[in-house]
Amino acid sequence: MLTPDPLLPVSGGIGMPKPSHEKKGDLFARALVLEKGNTRIAIVSVDNLGWTSILGDRSRKLIKGIPPENILIGATHTHSAPDAYAFPDENGKTGADLKYLDWCTRQIADAVNEAIAKLQPAVIKTAVGEAKGKIAYNYYAPDLYDPRCGVIQAIATGGANKGKPIATLVNYAIHPEVIGPDRGILSPDLCGPLCDRIESKAGGMALFMNSAQGGMVTADNRLPDGKEANDYKECARIGNLLADEALRIIADAPEQHNASLFCAYKFISFPIASPVMKFILIHTPLKSPYVNTAGDSIQTRLNLLNIGTAQVLTIPGEALPNIGYYVKRHMRSSQPFLFGLTNDAFGYMLTKVDFTSFKRYEYVSRTSLGEQTGEIYIEQALSLIGECPPADY
Ligand SMILES: [Zn+2]
Repeated sequence: MLTPDPLLPVSGGIGMPKPSHEKKGDLFARALVLEKGNTRIAIVSVDNLGWTSILGDRSRKLIKGIPPENILIGATHTHSAPDAYAFPDENGKTGADLKYLDWCTRQIADAVNEAIAKLQPAVIKTAVGEAKGKIAYNYYAPDLYDPRCGVIQAIATGGANKGKPIATLVNYAIHPEVIGPDRGILSPDLCGPLCDRIESKAGGMALFMNSAQGGMVTADNRLPDGKEANDYKECARIGNLLADEALRIIADAPEQHNASLFCAYKFISFPIASPVMKFILIHTPLKSPYVNTAGDSIQTRLNLLNIGTAQVLTIPGEALPNIGYYVKRHMRSSQPFLFGLTNDAFGYMLTKVDFTSFKRYEYVSRTSLGEQTGEIYIEQALSLIGECPPADY
């Protein structure tokens, strides 16, 4: 559980966090640990806007029995959780609660260590299918989003829950910003009801990993009168619908009895070209050791996983949906998963031709590391895919 008590201000992006007066749902760190032979990996979902490697690495140090490079920590991107970037204002002051963040890193490590302690024999099921219904759309251009939903389920092969799900992972691109930071509410947004619904219908634990949801794939809370539904009821409608779709998509997937489990990684660097991003990265009290001494480049880790017939690639930020489509098409699996905002969350990632192009892209360009971010990501992602074995066939 990551809900602060008392409540803290919430952040939906760069700038000072906004006060919260009530909570709707709770914030969580949810962990799935997979093991086969000598390979053990952890996938962690954190209810926050973004979770940088400086915080992730604090947890990795406290996790026993999994190499740090096999621990993938992603943010759900809820816009109603405390500031985890410690965004500095023009005077270098921050509205973040560093003690809360440190507590979270221990809670996250505890969640993974608990999952390790509870490892039990299982088979997996994986599937990718189109999630139907009013779930997401692209706020900039309604149809330009990826409706594919990836699902990974671990089914117990023994014990009291034999045949039942131990965990269900849902991978889908969406901005959980139904409530947003301006309503005085702290909330996991639609990710809370999504996980609750899966856990109540299927059993076991559920976790949500976001995907390529940048510029600007968001929750479809549009109302017929041109307004938007912005309450927790709408979070529940969308979360429940995505949960039901995910369970439908995975329902008929075959059990994979000798699924391979593979984890690889690669360090990559991005130039920090944007003045805004440079200011934040240099002046935040959570300054990353991965920023070079000149302050003009930052390093991060990409991960590639094969989990049976599924392949997973991480994105250290918010890739636009066209980048998502392109990378998925080049992955060596008919079940491509993209874990967005995972290991790091550097803002938007656009292709160089999209960068500062449409007026619509002004905001996402400004909150991007620079023109080369998308290009470098695509090139490095494709090279990592090429270096790794394909998923099971
Ligand atoms: Zn975003």
